[in-house]
Amino acid sequence: MRDVLVFVEHVAGVPRRVSFEIATKAKEIATALGGSVHALVLGKNAGTAAEALKAYPVDTIHVSEDPDIDGFLIDPSVDYLEAAAKAVGPALVLVPFTMIGRDLGSRLAARLDAGQTADVTDVVVADGKVTCLSPKLGGTVVTACAFKGDYGIAAIRPNSFKAAPAAGSGTIVQLEKPAGKTYAIVVEEEVVEAAGEVGVEEASTVISGGRGVGGPEPFKTILKDLADSLGGSVGASRAAVDAGWIGHGHQVGQTGKTISPNLYIAVGISGAIQHKVGMRTAATIVAINKDGTVPIGEFADLLVVGDLFAIVPELTKAIRAVHA
Ligand SMILES: Cc1cc2nc3c(=O)[nH]c(=O)nc-3n(C[C@H](O)[C@H](O)[C@H](O)COP(=O)(O)OP(=O)(O)OC[C@H]3O[C@@H](n4cnc5c(N)ncnc54)[C@H](O)[C@@H]3O)c2cc1C
Repeated sequence: MRDVLVFVEHVAGVPRRVSFEIATKAKEIATALGGSVHALVLGKNAGTAAEALKAYPVDTIHVSEDPDIDGFLIDPSVDYLEAAAKAVGPALVLVPFTMIGRDLGSRLAARLDAGQTADVTDVVVADGKVTCLSPKLGGTVVTACAFKGDYGIAAIRPNSFKAAPAAGSGTIVQLEKPAGKTYAIVVEEEVVEAAGEVGVEEASTVISGGRGVGGPEPFKTILKDLADSLGGSVGASRAAVDAGWIGHGHQVGQTGKTISPNLYIAVGISGAIQHKVGMRTAATIVAINKDGTVPIGEFADLLVVGDLFAIVPELTKAIRAVHA
């Protein structure tokens, strides 16, 4: 295993930040192994995403804008990833530890009869051997996994590495459509969540609501207003998501997103360990809670004690006044 193949996740031709993070780390790994970095960009506007990727240390960018990829089914993407992996040869394949990356990585592992390590936060190369580190049990244990076969697949947790631009040769190669089997077709599509908002993983400011928020309305009103006033996004604890007040895509924590914003404001959230592991690396953590002894107070930079329904609108008003 010498080369590294990176799966690039993008939205309408704009690579997600995690893709740049992984591309940067891939170069470090490939250099240590004496190999090169390949990237795979698929779907509508893949060519635009490939151009953006040229600012990062990638040697070869494999591209396909095959419309089948955008049809909500994962199999066409797995076909391309499998074909790209086989074309590159024995390689470490890096996918983001996102909904799409998890799905792709595990299917690719099955097809290549390779091992996959999930939720990887670091990759170390020593004596030509790749080891993936990944925290378990809420970060109390860190496992180190090596690969036995020709291929290894590592699903990388977003925000684990810094994205550092450094141009590689960035040669773009158009991919032929691989032979694949169609196992399913989409018969109907329903949009359940508005597109276009910056996801919590990408946002530099996140305002999250918990059980204390009491229902779905405050997510759309007072929390959204505060997020808008700061140019941020709305997140949530699992309690709020499980109650059906907001979609799972907004959940922060062990079974949700791991984020690292500049500012995290936890509103009516107690700060359970499963929530903490998803946001503890935020640069500044502010908690708003009516309980002055709440666990989140132990790791927040600032705990504001009081009723969220009184504090949050006043805070939004004050921020808007400053901006005005
Ligand atoms: C395997 C597993 C995985 C999990 N994964 C996740 C995960 O990914 N993310 C996650 O968040 N949790 C996760 N959990 C759940 C986690 O253990 C907690 O149950 C959850 O985080 C609690 O959510 P909460 O803080 O919103 O609710 P609570 O713990 O009930 O806290 C509500 C807070 O709101 C405050 N409050 C109430 N009213 C007001 C008011 N008017 N003004 C101000 N404050 C108020 C209360 O003082 C309280 O501190 C997981 C649990 C397990 C077992």
